[in-house]
Amino acid sequence: MSDIERDPEPPTFADLDIDDRVLKALSDVGYESPSPIQAATIPPLLAGNDVVGLAQTGTGKTAAFAVPILSKIDLTQKSPQALVLAPTRELALQVAEAFGKYSAHIPGLHVLPIYGGQSYGVQLSGLRRGAHVVVGTPGRVIDHLEKGTLDLSKLSYLVLDEADEMLKMGFQEDVERILADTPEYKQVALFSATMPGAIRKISKQYMHDPVEITMKSKTSTASNISQRYVQVAHQRKLDALTRVLEVEDFEAMIIFVRTKQATEDLAEKLRSRGFSASAINGDIVQAQRERTIGQLKSGALDILVATDVAARGLDVDRISHVVNYDIPHDTESYVHRIGRTGRAGRAGEALLFVAPRERHLLKAIEKATRQPLAEMQLPSVDDVNAQRVSKFGDSITESLTSDNLALFRKMIEDYEQEHDVPLADIAAALAVQSRDGEAFLMAPEPPPAPRREREPRERPARRFDDGPPTRSRGPEGQELATYRIAVGKRHRVVPGAIVGAIANEGGLRRSDFGHISIRPDHSLVELPADLSSETLEALRRTRISGVLIQLQPDSGPPSGRPRGGRDDRAGGKFQRDRDSRKRPRE
Ligand code: AMP
Repeated sequence: MSDIERDPEPPTFADLDIDDRVLKALSDVGYESPSPIQAATIPPLLAGNDVVGLAQTGTGKTAAFAVPILSKIDLTQKSPQALVLAPTRELALQVAEAFGKYSAHIPGLHVLPIYGGQSYGVQLSGLRRGAHVVVGTPGRVIDHLEKGTLDLSKLSYLVLDEADEMLKMGFQEDVERILADTPEYKQVALFSATMPGAIRKISKQYMHDPVEITMKSKTSTASNISQRYVQVAHQRKLDALTRVLEVEDFEAMIIFVRTKQATEDLAEKLRSRGFSASAINGDIVQAQRERTIGQLKSGALDILVATDVAARGLDVDRISHVVNYDIPHDTESYVHRIGRTGRAGRAGEALLFVAPRERHLLKAIEKATRQPLAEMQLPSVDDVNAQRVSKFGDSITESLTSDNLALFRKMIEDYEQEHDVPLADIAAALAVQSRDGEAFLMAPEPPPAPRREREPRERPARRFDDGPPTRSRGPEGQELATYRIAVGKRHRVVPGAIVGAIANEGGLRRSDFGHISIRPDHSLVELPADLSSETLEALRRTRISGVLIQLQPDSGPPSGRPRGGRDDRAGGKFQRDRDSRKRPRE
């Protein structure tokens, strides 16, 4: 049987008419082939169309818009040609960094992030120097437009990244203003994980006949493949994989990673831990690839570390396990990957490593394949050690049938008589020798670091009107304190506007917010208790609806003034603010 099935060939980056310098940068960062959103989005963007892409973080959407923009940028024009709007400063920085990576071979190209919380000075000098690409949060972009320090009159490309998040954070009015106040004939790309009415409206009103991209995924997975996932932080993945390799009973395994470099690195790390592993990726010449696959088939090799492209169509019956070490960009890749096991009617096992921030990709896979993945607990140190002891026993049993046994038995008996040492001690000494100084058992894990203070497990139901504020914990366990801001119902603020402005200027995430309570002339907001003095200073100077919010720790109600009012939990309540016309001023 051939080891390659005839799958339709997906495009390569070279097929997509990308500027050569950008192509070289993509090869440098180790991307082997376009992710589906990239393959679908790059051609229409290069051709000058507006695009609406339904895509989440982790699908490769940043390169999907950065690559065509960089391919078309005109270095001789000094005022900004491309503007990317992003909901948070983290995302703005991440996107700016990605533009930097993909333009590494375009000398003279300037990318400038502008976001709330950073001093205007740095941004002003960056803008004066000239930036071809500006990546910013909407509030700060508007501020620069109002100050006359950002000239968008020659803008050719506008990207709305995570558009649904921007609206949830109260930036609808800002985004629409930027869309309306920039040249009519700019190209607009809008990326969003969901398509609520407000986004559809934006696309109708401000975009010209956009190409809509929704990935049609191959979603059926074979029922003879059992699918599990493990939650593991990025930095612990290698340890997690070694435990799985030690404890899982596998015949042959394919481990999927995202880049060519990662195939080499991981295969090398596994070899240094004593596993028989080889890498295959698109750079490996055909003869070598065939040799490696031949070894996998014959059993001379058990572990293949591969990229999606290199493993496409691979058909080796021995593959009992597929490990998604790096989560795939899209459901279709997932289906292709796990289809490398369960061949020839055998049972197969598929395991997916999911980092905390990748849970939405797991959900997308489950939704598209209409099959929940079972959570697997990582093998414990005891599990690993029990397995080592059992394998040690097996190796003794196996060696008892060796032809060399008689020779060694004679030498050991001589040694025993000469030195008067029990046979068990001699056998143990030989085992030590065979380990070459390495520890046999895995060391127990250190106990978890003690918490600094005891907190009740459950957050007590808390009201603002029963005395001075108590400290509570946010969704990620961080300690929260109550802060007072000088805007309230009278200023017609809504929770989304408060979160948008404070998150932007203070560099906070949505998960940093606790309760928000809007009172007639002020509001109370729960935020991390350990805000730095710079953040506090930035937030004191932040404006919402044009009013300085003068954020300060709340010291409880003045005597005689009862507390009461509406409590809004920040996460989850914004949906209803989506259509709010109030703009979160910074
Ligand atoms: P994004 O969805 O843009 O945040 O990208 C998610 C991750 O995928 C980032 O770490 C990118 O560097 C990586 N990535 C993007 N495109 C590709 C590609 N074509 N091949 C491999 N990795 C990619």
